[in-house]
Amino acid sequence: MLAPLGYKCRPGISRTGFRGITIHNTSNWNKGANAIAHANLLRGSWKNVTTSWNYVVDQDRAVRCVPENEVAWCQGDGNGDGNMKTISIEICDNSDGDIRKATDNAVELAAQILRRYGVTNASGYLFQHNHWTGKDCPYDIRRGKPYDWNTFVSKVQAKLNGTSGSAGDQILTVGSKVKFNGVFKINELILPNSKYPNGAIGCYDTCYGSPCGVDDYIPSGPIAKCNSDGSNANYNAILNKGDYWKCDKEFTVKAVELPTKYLPNGVAILEADGVRFRCDCGPLYEVANS
Ligand SMILES: [Zn+2]
Repeated sequence: MLAPLGYKCRPGISRTGFRGITIHNTSNWNKGANAIAHANLLRGSWKNVTTSWNYVVDQDRAVRCVPENEVAWCQGDGNGDGNMKTISIEICDNSDGDIRKATDNAVELAAQILRRYGVTNASGYLFQHNHWTGKDCPYDIRRGKPYDWNTFVSKVQAKLNGTSGSAGDQILTVGSKVKFNGVFKINELILPNSKYPNGAIGCYDTCYGSPCGVDDYIPSGPIAKCNSDGSNANYNAILNKGDYWKCDKEFTVKAVELPTKYLPNGVAILEADGVRFRCDCGPLYEVANS
């Protein structure tokens, strides 16, 4: 039920990259305010309002209102990464609907999307609307209704883990050759020192939320500074906190830590600049042994 092209709700602007999925609740508790009703809003009285979403989900269905490759005005951050680089899912919380079924359907949809983009670690690619602007959204999930955010993320992760035939089922072993898959953010920075001759970076996407161990930092030698969409990669640039990075270098897995409840993808131990470092297997993909 696509919104009409060329109106304020769907200007036809291309998304400028893929950073993940932003989750919302409609906070529209009116009876009958289900997914179809919301899709009809964008085709009717809201078509010239700068508010829209890629998908709206209720207890029975997911409705696509704006194609995934087009910007929907849902995250409230203007031309920021939320609007320009994430796909939005609105979860209906109409009073005559089943919020648990609706949220479970959003889990399924989010997993389907992430799978198509080759994402294996859900936590790095799922955002609350709150992340972009501080808005109290998704209102229900933020109140544990029908379950909290961590549960939502882990349910999506469980779906990704259960997938066969995608990057999610790779099993890395000592000697596997791997590369980094994607563009990441530098969340922490270590200046050159005796252990890290080129310095090192801390990246939440590669170490389950925060680098807490001494070997969770990635030596900077093989890291390129780049734009958020991966363009303009510069392997000689000075790295700063907040920069985006990528890495095209091939690594050999030196050791592995098997998946656990808290580390569902497992951990690969890699080496660069003469130092070993730990990395979530999710952002890695295996390349053929050459
Ligand atoms: Zn929202």
